[in-house]
Amino acid sequence: MQQKIIQRLHGQAQNYAWGMLSTNPDCLVYKLTQKISNEIKPFAEFWMGSHPSLPSLYENGEKVNLDLPYLFKVLSVDQPLSIQIHPNKEQAKVLHATKPNLYPDDNHKPEMAIALTNFEALVGFTDQQTIIQNIERNPCVIQKIGENLWNQFVVAQNQQAQDILKQIVATLLSLTQDEVKYLLDNYQWPIKCNPSLDPGSKIEKYDVGYLFLLLMNHLILQPGQAVVLEAGLIHAYLKGNIIETMANSDNVVRCGFTPKQKDVETMKEILICEMKQPNYVQPIIEESNEYSFKQYITKYQEFACDYLELKPQEKSKVFKIKQNSILLCIQGYGKLINEEGQHELNFGQTYLINKENEVHFQVDQSLQLYICYSQ
Ligand SMILES: [Zn+2]
Repeated sequence: MQQKIIQRLHGQAQNYAWGMLSTNPDCLVYKLTQKISNEIKPFAEFWMGSHPSLPSLYENGEKVNLDLPYLFKVLSVDQPLSIQIHPNKEQAKVLHATKPNLYPDDNHKPEMAIALTNFEALVGFTDQQTIIQNIERNPCVIQKIGENLWNQFVVAQNQQAQDILKQIVATLLSLTQDEVKYLLDNYQWPIKCNPSLDPGSKIEKYDVGYLFLLLMNHLILQPGQAVVLEAGLIHAYLKGNIIETMANSDNVVRCGFTPKQKDVETMKEILICEMKQPNYVQPIIEESNEYSFKQYITKYQEFACDYLELKPQEKSKVFKIKQNSILLCIQGYGKLINEEGQHELNFGQTYLINKENEVHFQVDQSLQLYICYSQ
């Protein structure tokens, strides 16, 4: 079904256990599904795109089968996601060939997260001095790492420090459950990181993930702030709502905060141990009295995302939309108009624009739109 340039789409939700419950007023994913669920359950991710695991649907129920290079999502995170990394293209090909059950795609999965609410996450390894301070508060952890290796890390620089950090990570990941319990019973929280991990959460009290807090950057993004997550970068989302765009893939290597299968061997192989601040994405901003336009672009061709806020005005506003864009309305009322006709815009409406097109926005009440496309 390809006749019309603008087509209404229906995204679909994933009900992963870490999602916000349907009864939680902050759960954007549940609201986006626009269906009443009688059962109280978590609504974690809203997928817009053509990934075979959960393709979006056209009005007539047909699946989108365009092979879009990106996947566009909204996430409502209530409990930490797995501590994870994603493979690069070459690694993804090998992993998919050797472990297709764990790695459903032969594609890489760089991601960009744009905060919709305050959003808390662990992203990458923090600087060496902070790691040293955090671990020195935990002598039991040094015991497990081994005094020798630890002393080497304290004075090491550059690549050598990264190599030793990798050995430290490998040691933490090979601890037995009893050893993890012992370390966590004696745990001193990191100085700069006090995440709102709910003690009553679904995360095991003795999850090895807590030990990674000693090593990682703890961020709280404000609405509109964004980070890009590259191959080999360790990360875990903790709480809040985000827009997420990524290459069309679902390849995740997990190692903590998860009851799902952990693949420690692969993790050790592909983990990159640079210690640095996360890569924030600075949007290109264009503003006037009538609108605000922010363009979030990374080095990845597969995905980019625009945020468009339009104030009510007498004349409709014209924008050029790229081929195979998906547009999501998260606030306001108005109309999307092109040569074929007009479409309603209000919360949760999603459209696929399958050909480069000039569209007119009629704004009845301030509109907020996200538009995902490939560059
Ligand atoms: Zn990820």
